[in-house]
This record gives sequence, structure tokens and C-alpha cells, in this order.
Amino acid sequence: MFDKILIANRGEIACRIMETARKKGIKTVAVYSKVDAGARHVRLADEAYEIGPAEAKESYLKAQVIIDVAKKSGAEAIHPGYGFLSENEQFASACEDADIRFIGPTASAIRLMGLKDQAKSAMEKAGVAVVPGYDGAKQQVAFLLEKANEIGYPLLIKAVAGGGGKGMRLVEESSDFVQALASAKREAKSAFGNDQVLLEKYIRKARHIEVQVFADMVGNAVYLHERDCSLQRRHQKIVEEAPAPDLSDDMRYELGETATRAAKAIKYRGAGTIEFIVDVENGLKDAPFYFMEMNTRLQVEHPVTELITGIDLVEWQLRVAAGERLPLTQDDIKLNGHAFEVRLYAEDPVSGFLPQIGRLNHFSYPDPDINFRLDTGIEEGDEVSIHYDPMIAKLIVWGASRGEALRHMRRVIKNTAIAGVKTNLEFLFNIFNHQSFNVADIDTGFIDKYGDELTDRLRQVSVPVLVLASLCELMPHTEGYDVWDWSDGWQLNMNLSMNLTFTENGHKHDIKVTYLKEGFKIEVRDQSYHVTLLKQKGDDFSILIDGKKVSGKVIRKHEDFTVFCDGKVSYLHHFIPGADNDNVGSKSGRVITPMPGKISKLFVESGENVEEGQALLMLEAMKMEHTIKAPCSGVVELLSLEQDMQVSDGQLLLNIAECEANG
Ligand code: ADP
Repeated sequence: MFDKILIANRGEIACRIMETARKKGIKTVAVYSKVDAGARHVRLADEAYEIGPAEAKESYLKAQVIIDVAKKSGAEAIHPGYGFLSENEQFASACEDADIRFIGPTASAIRLMGLKDQAKSAMEKAGVAVVPGYDGAKQQVAFLLEKANEIGYPLLIKAVAGGGGKGMRLVEESSDFVQALASAKREAKSAFGNDQVLLEKYIRKARHIEVQVFADMVGNAVYLHERDCSLQRRHQKIVEEAPAPDLSDDMRYELGETATRAAKAIKYRGAGTIEFIVDVENGLKDAPFYFMEMNTRLQVEHPVTELITGIDLVEWQLRVAAGERLPLTQDDIKLNGHAFEVRLYAEDPVSGFLPQIGRLNHFSYPDPDINFRLDTGIEEGDEVSIHYDPMIAKLIVWGASRGEALRHMRRVIKNTAIAGVKTNLEFLFNIFNHQSFNVADIDTGFIDKYGDELTDRLRQVSVPVLVLASLCELMPHTEGYDVWDWSDGWQLNMNLSMNLTFTENGHKHDIKVTYLKEGFKIEVRDQSYHVTLLKQKGDDFSILIDGKKVSGKVIRKHEDFTVFCDGKVSYLHHFIPGADNDNVGSKSGRVITPMPGKISKLFVESGENVEEGQALLMLEAMKMEHTIKAPCSGVVELLSLEQDMQVSDGQLLLNIAECEANG
């Protein structure tokens, strides 16, 4: 076994790998970019070296610099984590050339599986079914259109070098093909430097079921059962579970054997995942499944496999890389209970899952135990920046049954709070309370289908949330102030009343609070409530509203309040007349950049009439294209915008005059 390894990654996965290394008595070397100097992975490592500025291509993707650090520090092996250099064949061979073991497959296996077209033909040769389509080298637009028409619609355009759902477009009909192709190619070019695409028949009702495989250097290969990753947004996973619900033992065996055969066919070594798409148009029983791609690395969702098998996948990776045989045979690999993972992202589900950036001024979660594990690389006070993936943490639960695991996840999400950036926390909570999800009626279209319910778009902020925010606002900000003195305000000033206004998503909420002999009278939306404070400790409140107990957490930063109550997360602003824009409540025609990026496409011209919701422009940010839509109907006034122009965070992009305030 190695004495010292370098982890060529950051964030939760770097921390995760270090934990196993520490357990095995292996010393760890971290590398970090300038902005990551204080990051958790740097603090966890035994040694750490700065390798360049924030941009990944100047730091975490600098293969030679990282290899030099490994040499200098005496690390015998490099673990690449996922993303960055993990599936870079040149890096894998450069490591071996430098006499440093790459903890992963051989460069040739990475090359073979790295491009989706090559991988598909290798799998066909190994007798594994693949999704029908076109994956040839000819890329002329007219030719691809012809092929697309032959395959039929709906179809998927995929970047051959793609990953993370980037460079992928669903095309519903022939007339949309050319525009979708151009957009997929643009995104692929910018994310992967390769704009070649393949075309695939789109499976309307599908489940994404993937098999974890492991192989050693002497030809043994096993599968560690499957994960169901059907819950995706933008073709990217956000909830994963193991085992796949309702999968029969026969099909589990068939998927596992197929995956192992595929791994053996390409002489694979280490951890890998074979992703299948299962056509569930006629249900899951005996459903046809097709190879989609192989990921030649540890996956983000590997913890669910660890929780149902009791196997530490990173430990196995280290052992295989050090030349050991696989520790278990297929028959010894058990499947126990059920596990879920959710990816907690800094993103706004209400505006198309747009990534968010900012500093986490609060991050709290329940204490980990045998049912709950948290993998993160971020702590309170850290920043989610535009430079890296906006994933904050993974919440992972285990239960003896799916039902028990569901209950644990609800409990965990309910007791997790993040403030400073918008997150998908409430969205995840809504998934775990959705009737169809609870009975495992899932497919890859789940989030699109139930999107409105899950984002709860029309939800009006609840009375308990407004009451909690009001109490927090009225609370004296002096440390050590006795809460009973404060809520006894009536003694000092009988019948003292205060008016407060909160805004949320452009809506105003007026509240009147009157101090009573016992508690408060709170008037909101023409109703009056009697409120008493049961307990307040830090940000946590326990109150009675007309005798009904409500608990919640309120995180206040200046005049902004993030309120967590019963799985709901509300972002309120304390509105101060005069200090704030008085136009709240009417829609604004001002279109502002949500984050720094580049205008990759302009769809409108000055003077053009647009409808609310119409696409105005495409913003390329964080390696993805985001459609910016008209907030209201009206006439476009472009403010010297040009294609390919760089724009900064919060910049006014255009104005929609005569904006109809129909909100
Ligand atoms: P990436 O490498 O970008 O993650 P994948 O090929 O793994 O892309 O596909 C990502 C997701 O897109 C899949 O999990 C699935 O939900 C969807 N998908 C991919 N191919 C198809 C297909 N042919 N039909 C329907 N959905 C598909």
C-alpha cells in the first residue's frame, strides 16, 4: 500500500478521499488554487501546495504542475477524484511516465470510453445493446439533418466528448433541429473543446440505472449492484438511490453481469460505472436496456453504493491501484437496506436551476449518525464562486427499507439550513414528499413533469414564516438580552404596535405586531393571530400561533431573512419605505445578468415586441448556456449589447419598455 498520495481535486470529493486515506494511515497531499487557500480540503490534508489562480485551467487542470508537486512531496500515487483530470488519458499516462501510480483505469481504457461514439462501438462489439442512432464522423449540418430525419423524433443530440448533461439537446421536431445542433455544438466547443456530436433516438419514458463495477489488475471483475439516477434536471442527476426500486433480482443480475462483461471486454481496472438507459414505456419488468456510457472514475453518487454494500469504494480503489486483488468475490457482495443521496446545489429551481454564487453566511445540518452521512467541502463562511461546480454538499441517508430511508431524508432536509445563496433545499424536500416519488413511480422526465409542483411556483409565503421573520426583526440585537424582557414589551409601553413590511419575489406582505400582556397579536392578510414565544435559542424559534406549535430557524443578514420552517425555505427582505424601491409588486422590465458570463446569442432587436417568457438571449456562464427570458411583455430597448460580449454580475442587459404589469 502507498504511504503518501496526492489528491488532484478540491471540494467534497477531495475531502472524501482524504478520509479513507487517513483511516488507512496514508498521508495526503492537497493541491489548491489561490482562492482555495483556506478551503476544507486544504485544512484536512497533511501537506498542501498552491498550483495557480482560480480558473481551473490554470490550476486544477495543470497536469504537469500537479505531477511536479507529487514528485516534490514524495507522493507515490495520484487520486484524481471526479471531474478535472479524472478522465484525461494524457494525465493518466503522464503519471505513469513519471513513475507515479494513477488511481484509476489505464490511459487506454479512458481513451476508449472517453468519447461516446467510440464507447458505443466498443460496447456493441462486446455484445452490449446501445441506443439506436448515428455516431459517425461526418458532421455536415445537412447530412446530420438527414440522419436525424431518418432516426425520427424526438431525438437527442449529444456531444461525443460530453458529460454532466452539457452539449446535449432534445429535439422534438425536424424544424428545430438546425438551431438545436448549433447550440449543442457551441456549448460542446466551449466546455470540451470538441464540437463533434452524435444523434440518438430519445427514449420517452426512461429510467437511468447504472451499475458500479470494480476490476483488479489480474483480470477479476465484480459489480457492486446498481444505482437509480432517474431524477435529473438539465440531464444531470440530483437524487440518486440504491438499489433501483422495484428492480427484480433477475434483472439486477442481468444488468450486473452485462456491466461486468463490458468491463472485462475492455480490460478495465479500478472503479467504473456502466450507465444504462432502461426503456420503461411498458413498465420495468423485463424492460429493454441500452448502454449509454461508461464513466471511468469514482462517481459523485458512489456513497449510496457504499451504504448498501458496506464497502468503502475509495479503499478498494487504493488497494487495486496498489496491485492488490479485489477483496471480495461476487457472491460475497451483499445488498443491505436502501440509500438515497441528494445533491445540495447553490441554484434557483424557480428560475430554471440557474447556478447561484455567494458566501454561505449560515450552514447547519443534523449530526451524522448511522442513518445520515454528509459529504461536503464547504463550511459556513466559505464562498460558492463562479469558478467551480455549485454543489454545496451531498446529504446521504440509509434505512432498512426504502420507506425508512425516505423518512430519514425528510428529517435531514428539514433540519438543514443554508443562507447566503439560494439553494435547491426546498425543491429536494418537495421531491421527498411527492406521492409519485414515494411510490417509486419515477422516470427521467419526473422533474420536468412535476416541475411546477416541486418548485411550488405559486406558493404564497406562509403566515408562520412571516410571524417568525417579524419576531426575529423585533428581537433586540444586543447579545445577552433576556428574551423575556424583550417579549414583555407591554410593561414598558402598553399597547405598543409596530408595522412591518416584508417583500418576497416582488410581493409585499404587511404585518402589524402588537405587544400584549402575554405574547403578541399579529395581524397579517386581514387575520389576527395570538402568538407566544416558547423558546428562542440563537436562530431557532419555537412559538405558538393560536395554540399551534411552530418551530423554525431564521437567519438574518442585514435586512435579508432566510426562514426555514417545515421543509420550506423563504427568502424575505425587510422593506423600508424610502430606503427601498417603492415599485415592488409591479413587474420590472429591467433585465439584469444573474451572474458574470458571455452573451452567446441574441434573439431580439431593439424596438421588437416581445411576449412575457419569450427567449431574449443566451448567456454562457459556468460552462453552460442559460436562456434569459422576458420578465414581461413589451418593447425591447437594447443597451448596446452585442453577441460574444462579456457581461458582469448584476449588469443591466436590456429594458422592456411599456412593460405590462400583469403580475
Ligand atoms: P452525460 O455524459 O452528459 O451525463 P449521458 O449520455 O450520460 O450524458 O446522459 C445523461 C442523461 O440524459 C441520462 O441519464 C438520461 O436521463 C438522458 N438520456 C441520455 N440518452 C438518452 C436517450 N437516448 N433517451 C432518453 N434520455 C436519454
